[in-house]
Amino acid sequence: MDRAIVIVGLAALKEDYLMGKCRTNSVVIDEAIRLLKMNEKRQPIKLPALPTMTKEAWRWGCPKCEFDIGYNWKFCHECGQEMDWSFLGASS
Ligand SMILES: [Zn+2]
Repeated sequence: MDRAIVIVGLAALKEDYLMGKCRTNSVVIDEAIRLLKMNEKRQPIKLPALPTMTKEAWRWGCPKCEFDIGYNWKFCHECGQEMDWSFLGASS
């Protein structure tokens, strides 16, 4: 399921809680939303080329920890951040 749909659902649940219709604590709901957002896919960043590479080149890096990642890696091997390569038009 799309994360965005889950987040919208949780927000509705929180409204229910605030109106006394739901027994799940709003703090729990907020935490669930925070965790979901934290685990969102993120686009890789471009790191500067190494001295051994041509000037115009770059390396792909993890947006969270700046670890060198390989093209089309699904996850950073260092911190586990999920990558979003969709901006390159590649299928994920
Ligand atoms: Zn990382």
